Amino acid sequence: MKITLPDDRTVSIGKLLCIGRNYADHAAEMEREVPDAPMVFLKPATAVIRDGGTVHLPPQSRDVHHEIELVAVIGKKGRKISQQEALDHVAGYAVGLDMTARDLQNEAKEQRHPWSVAKGFDTFAPLGPISPATAIDNPQALTLRLEVNGEVRQEASTEHMMFPVAELIHYCSQIFTLMPGDLLYTGTPSGVAPVEHGDELYASATGCDSLRVNVQRST
Ligand code: MN
Repeated sequence: MKITLPDDRTVSIGKLLCIGRNYADHAAEMEREVPDAPMVFLKPATAVIRDGGTVHLPPQSRDVHHEIELVAVIGKKGRKISQQEALDHVAGYAVGLDMTARDLQNEAKEQRHPWSVAKGFDTFAPLGPISPATAIDNPQALTLRLEVNGEVRQEASTEHMMFPVAELIHYCSQIFTLMPGDLLYTGTPSGVAPVEHGDELYASATGCDSLRVNVQRST
């Protein structure tokens, strides 16, 4: 799948770098410790859907949760990127959803298995319209807000991230070469909850155009 960056370059979506437990209040609701370094997992590019799309609930899960997240869209290749230069690698920001099959994730945690299945289903990474990075003064001062059927479920400021965007880029780039078209899902605040067939999700972040998706049982 391709995306168009704010500078009009069209690139293939690369890696989805996703951060777990990056807000203390979400770690607490999951009854988990706050990690002392960013916790990174990957999703496949095939999980991405865009505004107006449909999240399909897979038959393998009975408990799919929404997680609203700020997404940094990488626009410049780099490795071992310093924190000072990190935000120069961000082409734009978008609001996104890290859809999670919580029952499969809990099983995986118990069995010490990876999260790829719980996190990686098709349609499990909705991505909103991309705003140019130049339009966002400070990615750590945005309000994330998720409504399900018109009711607010998650609302928080990105100032509460344990590891801010620049630190996440620095950290991830010690491991992975970052490429234009990579997406960094920066973690969710508290308020995660199940979605159901027929739900309408409306996600917003300050300075970004909103994201609307609906939820359907997979046939
Ligand atoms: Mn998440």
